[in-house]
Order: sequence, then structure tokens, then C-alpha cells
Amino acid sequence: MPELLEPVILGQGAPGRRGVAIPEAAVPAPSLSEVLPAAMLRREAPALPQQSELEVVRHYLRLSQLNHAIDKGFYPLGSCTMKYNPKVNEWVARLDGLANIHPYQPESQLQGALEIMYDLQQWLCAITGLERCSLQPAAGAHGELTGILMIKAYHQHRDDAKRTRVLVPDSAHGTNPATAAVAGFEVVTVASDSRGLVDLADLKAKLDDRVAALMLTNPNTLGLFEEDILEIQEAVHAAGGLLYYDGANFNAILGTVRPGDMGFDVVHLNLHKTFSTPHGGGGPGSGPVVVGKALEPFLPVPIVARDASGNYRLDANRPLTIGRVKAFLGNFGMHVRAYAYILAHGADGLAQVSRDAVLNANYLKAQLKEPFEMPHAQPCMHEFVMSGSRQKAKGCNTLLLGKRLIDYGIHPPTIYFPLIVPEAMMIEPTETESKETLDRFVSAMHNIAREVEETPAVVQQAPHTTPIKRVDEVLAARKPVLRWRA
Ligand SMILES: *Cc1c(COP(=O)(O)O)cnc(C)c1O
Repeated sequence: MPELLEPVILGQGAPGRRGVAIPEAAVPAPSLSEVLPAAMLRREAPALPQQSELEVVRHYLRLSQLNHAIDKGFYPLGSCTMKYNPKVNEWVARLDGLANIHPYQPESQLQGALEIMYDLQQWLCAITGLERCSLQPAAGAHGELTGILMIKAYHQHRDDAKRTRVLVPDSAHGTNPATAAVAGFEVVTVASDSRGLVDLADLKAKLDDRVAALMLTNPNTLGLFEEDILEIQEAVHAAGGLLYYDGANFNAILGTVRPGDMGFDVVHLNLHKTFSTPHGGGGPGSGPVVVGKALEPFLPVPIVARDASGNYRLDANRPLTIGRVKAFLGNFGMHVRAYAYILAHGADGLAQVSRDAVLNANYLKAQLKEPFEMPHAQPCMHEFVMSGSRQKAKGCNTLLLGKRLIDYGIHPPTIYFPLIVPEAMMIEPTETESKETLDRFVSAMHNIAREVEETPAVVQQAPHTTPIKRVDEVLAARKPVLRWRA
């Protein structure tokens, strides 16, 4: 069977083969040397493959199918919320009046776009229970940096220079300590206890007047909601620190609880997770920050505002701002998609999203607790972490389990993260999957566990069905081959 497949690499085609036939121009063409300086003229024709339209179509369609994608199959990549992106969002984002505007147009011509951004800001405030929003940051980690720089500006404005530390639980997303370090803070790790939650005693021991903030991922990377969140909040505020809420995984709590009500000062959201704008493959993201009263003066500029007569404008006159964090107004196409998603769902629909996300994750967790090791027995939120340590003892570690899953047409979960669970598999089904899909995943995982017992070589040599068996991931990242060579 495999040898019948057509080659996956674009062939040489044949000299003179073309995809389009352009008719001869009716006017004489200028010679190239008349329009370009001699030094810029190419002396030799480029060595490009010469292909017919059909060959090019087949090449790109084939390439698109080599990658796994959410539109193709189940994608339970923990913490990444690889859920279905409704096509109506794409339709709205491609409307002429939205796709073809330019940020240098005068405000008077951008009223519709500004209204969308203003409404989205207001909705994100309502969803998080906070006061004011900036849509500028281009990703979750960028939102974190924006938030932490505002916290830094807040302490500086109060002449409180001794606050040089940021506390980060060991169950936080990896971008949290990285953000604090990039912003020039010393990162102090707070331990988790046997429940997988913040160890309150350890937190309190590390709270003093050097602490600028606590950055909390909630639900944490074990998929667990921090039950002591109010006590945590009170303790940090009492010590003069501020509270940062990593809300990248907001699909766990959407419409149910709000960081503002929990006393948090700033939260970032990932539109490209919770609000279903596409991600993966390095496309544009969006990581808005929403703040309470303490941090509002420090928001990036400009902010989209509405004046008394109902006109929208860009407000850059904010003396304590940390400045601009992104060119123009952020990734506007993502704002439009999130706007469409929120409108399509309404408040009740958004609350249903989090109920379904949590239900799906708990269903999988219950179905997989045998034969896999489940380090935390309590119910989870939108995702959970299990361990492949029993399978590793039989010669098939978590990496191999993930590779074998590819043969079943399923994207592997996030593996070896969080670091506090050995042989971790972090599984996030998302709310958009049907029970049938979840059941297929469960039976794939049970099959693989049986293979580990009975035919481990099948697992150890996986994947068997992909065009490239094992990618050298380091080489692929360090020396990517991104263009065709003759
Ligand atoms: C995805 C994620 C981030 C980072 O978001 P990016 O858009 O990839 O920068 C931060 N925190 C958590 C909890 C996440 O899941």
C-alpha cells in the first residue's frame, strides 16, 4: 500500500510546464533594463520546479493533510484548548469592511471596527469581573508580560522599590516564571501540597515586603481549581503584593466564577483558546489583559473609548501608562472572531461551554483511571494529568505512548508537563467533542496499554503510519528547512 502513494515532495515537473497561460500583451513590453537598475537584474533563471496547476493543487492539499489539525481529528493537547473554531467566526472576520480596513485610516472611518473592539473590551470586563481591558497583547505570554509590567509600574509609582520578587507556584504554566524573570523580577517558587494545590504554609512563609505579586494559574496545570483562592488572595494583599490571574484556560470557569470577584488585580485571557480563534502553526494570537482599579492607570495606550455622544476614539492621554506593547491596535482579526463567538453563544451559552469542558474531562478521567496511574483522585476542571509510570516500568514510556496514539489518528496529549508529575500526560478534551469521539480515545488508550503488556515492540517502534517516523525535534527547531531547494 505505501509504495502506491504519490511522492510527498513536489517533483521537478517539466520545463515549460505552467499553471496559467497569460495571453500576449497587446502593447509592447518595456525591456527589463528600462525598469530595473542593471545591478538588480537576475542573470540566471531561478531553479524553480515548473508545474501544472493540478500538480500544485495536489502538492498543497497533500501537505495540508500531513499535519494533524482540529478540523481533521481529536486533539487533546492539555493546556492548549484545541477546540473547534466555528466557521462563522471565519466568515465574519473575512467581511470586506473588516478585513480590508487599515489602521492608518482616520478614526471617523473606523467607527465600526472601534465599536467591535469597545464592545469586546466591555464583555471581557463583564466575563472577568474587572474594570478595564486592553486588547493589545498578541499572545497569552505577551498578556502576562503586559500585566507584570503594570504591576511593576504600580509599585514604582508608590516608591515601593523593595518589591523585587514574584511568587509562582510550581504548578503554574511555564510562561509565568519566564514572564516574571523577563520583567526583571526574582522568581520564588511556591510548593504544591499533596492535594496538588498551593501549599498555604509555604506561601505564607514566603510572603513579605519584598513580594511584588503572586502569579497564579487557575485552574492550575494539574487541572485543579485552587480551593483556597480567597485565603490566598487575602494573604498576598495583606502583605502588600498584587495578584495576577493566568486566565489562559478560562473555558474551565467561563460564566461560573470571575477573577475579579476572587479579588484579583489583573487577568489575561487567551482569545485563541477560550474564544475559539485559530491557533497552532504560529498564526496570530490575542492575549487581552483586564485589570481592576489598582492597575487601571497603567494600562497600555491607546485604549478604545466611547465619548458622551456615542463616538468611539483612541484614548492615548493616560499619563501613567506603561506605553504601547503592540503595533497599532493588536491582532484585530482575532478580536472580530472572539466577538462573533461571544455573540453567537450569549451568556448562557458561554456558561454551558465551561460545564461541557469540565464534564468531558471528568468523563475521560474516570474512564482512564485504570490502567493508568492517576496521581490526584479528586474531580478535575477542564483537563487532568495522569502518569505513564506503570507503562514505563514495562519498557514503554510516555513519549512512546504518545507516538503510538498517532497511529490511531489522534494527536498526543501534552507530555512531560507539568514537571511535578513523573511521566505526565496532560489531557484536555475540550467541550466541542462528542461522547463518541471521547469513547474512541478511551478505547485507543486501553488498546495501547494492552499492547504495552502483550506486544511492546509495536509501541516502542511507533508511529507506523506517518510519512516521517521520528522527527529529530531539536534539529527541526534549530535548523528548520523552510523552503524548497533545487
Ligand atoms: C497557553 C497558555 C499560556 C501562554 O499562552 P500563549 O498564547 O501560548 O503565549 C499561558 N498560561 C497558560 C495556563 C496557558 O495554557
